[in-house]
Amino acid sequence: MTVITRFAPSPTGSLHIGGARTALFNYLYAKRHGGQFLIRIEDTDRARSTEENIQIIHDGLGWLELTPDQEPVLQTRNEARHRAVAQEMVEAGKAFRCYTTPEELQARREDGESKRKAAKAEGLSDDERATLRAEADALLAPYRSPYRNGDAAAPSEDAPFTVRLRAPDEGDLVIDDAVQGRISIKAHEIDDLILLRADGTPTYMLAVVVDDHDMGITHIIRGDDHLRNAFRQIPIYVAMGWDIPVFAHVPLIHGPNGGKLSKRDGAQSVGEYRELGYLAEAMNNYLLRLGWAHGDNEILSRDEAIKLFDLSGIGKAPARLDFDKLNAVNSHYIRNASPEAVLPLVLAEIRQAVDISKETVARIEKAYPHMTDRGSTIPELANAFGFLTASRPFTLNKKARKSLRGEGLDRLAQVRNRLSQTDSWTSGELKLTLQALCDETGLSMGQFGPPLRSALTGGLPAPDIDQVLDWLGRDEALARIDEQIQAADAKSDASQQDG
Ligand code: GLU
Repeated sequence: MTVITRFAPSPTGSLHIGGARTALFNYLYAKRHGGQFLIRIEDTDRARSTEENIQIIHDGLGWLELTPDQEPVLQTRNEARHRAVAQEMVEAGKAFRCYTTPEELQARREDGESKRKAAKAEGLSDDERATLRAEADALLAPYRSPYRNGDAAAPSEDAPFTVRLRAPDEGDLVIDDAVQGRISIKAHEIDDLILLRADGTPTYMLAVVVDDHDMGITHIIRGDDHLRNAFRQIPIYVAMGWDIPVFAHVPLIHGPNGGKLSKRDGAQSVGEYRELGYLAEAMNNYLLRLGWAHGDNEILSRDEAIKLFDLSGIGKAPARLDFDKLNAVNSHYIRNASPEAVLPLVLAEIRQAVDISKETVARIEKAYPHMTDRGSTIPELANAFGFLTASRPFTLNKKARKSLRGEGLDRLAQVRNRLSQTDSWTSGELKLTLQALCDETGLSMGQFGPPLRSALTGGLPAPDIDQVLDWLGRDEALARIDEQIQAADAKSDASQQDG
C-alpha cells in the first residue's frame, strides 16, 4: 500500500500555525513511508475562498517547503462527483430523500427546548417531570427523519427535499485513532446526515469523504477538532463500501498559559512568524517538536525528521506554544545556516530602517560570520549591526560621552596616532598594535579601550575592538575617531571664546 496523506485547509485569510503543523505531519508521514503528500483546498465557503486567500495558503506552505506531490485539488471542482455519489447512495438504499423542512426542524427544536424548561417548573410530580424530560430529550436528540425507512410518502410531487444518509440504527461507532486510541460513541448520538442540501449542493461532510476517497488518501492526520466529524464521515465510507483510512487526530496547539491559542498570545499565522524574522527551517523544526517527541532531541533537520516521524510520537495532550524555545531553535538555525541564506534577510531588514552604502554592506558581510549569535530572530540580528550601519555624525550615548572627556580624549588621540601608522589593517595585526601601544606607554587597554570603542561605535554593543576596527576599515575607523577629536576641539574652542 502506498501511503497518501493530505492537508485540506479552508482558505480563511491566513495559514494558522496549527494548520502548518498538520501539513508538516502529513508531509513527514508520507515521506517517511515513501508515499505522497497532497493538498486539497476546501473552498466551499465561496465568500472566503478568494484567490488571495488561497494564495496565502500556497505561500505559507511554499515558504515552509511543504510541496505537494500533485497539483492541489479544489474541492468545489468536484461538486458534480459529490452529487453523483449521493445519488448512488440513494439508489443503493443507503441514503434517502427527506422532505422535512427547515421550519419543521426549527419547530421541533423549540418544542424540545420549551419542554426542557417546563420540566424545571415547580409543582410537578416526579412522573410528570420525567415524562417532560424524556419528551424534550427525544425532540432535541440527533435527528432521525421520518422518511428514513422509505415508507413515508412525499408531501407533494414537487416538494423540496434534502438527501440524508441513513444513520446506523443501533450499536457503537468505533474509531481506532492513531493518536487518541480507541474511541466510541453510541449510534443514536449521530443524526441522519444531510448529504445534499435542498438546493442540491453537497455538504462539507460528503465532499470531504468523497474527495479523500477519490484522492486515495490512506491516512487522515488533522486537528482533533475534527474528531466528532470522523464519526459522521465513517458511515459514508461504509455506505459506499470504501476502505476507511487511518485517522490520527492531533490535539490543538495551546497558548503559553495552557488555554486555547488566541491573538493575545502573539502571532498565530505562518505569515506573521515569517514577518517576525523566523527562518522556515526553524519554524518547521519547532512545529515538529510541538506535540511530537523523539527523545530529548530538540534539533532535527528535515531529513532526520523524515527518518524518524511516526504517529505514535504524537502526544495526546495539547502542546503549549513556548516562545523561548522557538527563539532558541531559531537562533540555532541562524547560527548554522549559510550566510547566503540569512544575510540577504538581515540586509533587507536593515534597509527597512536605514539607507546603507555599498561600503556598509561590505562591512556587514565581513562581520556577519562573527555576529550570528547576536540575535535569535532576523530583526534582533539586524539590530546588532547598528554599530556598523550608524552614520556620521554620531549620536553618542551617555556612557560613550563620558568616556570621551578629559583623559579619555587624550587616550583616543594617542590611539589614533598609533593606528594611523599601522600598515596592515587586519584584526590580528590591530590587536598587536594596540598591545604594543600599551607596552610603550605603560597604560592598559582598560584606558585606551573605552574611548576608542565609544568613538567607533557611539556606545552601541559591538564585538572585540580589533574586529570592529578591521570591519570598519582604516578610513572609516580613523574618520570616526577624528570626528570625536574634532568635536571635542570645537567644543573647547567655543568654551574658550565664551570665557
Ligand atoms: N478544511 C478543514 C479545516 O480547515 C479540514 C478538514 C479535514 O482535514 O478533514 O479545518
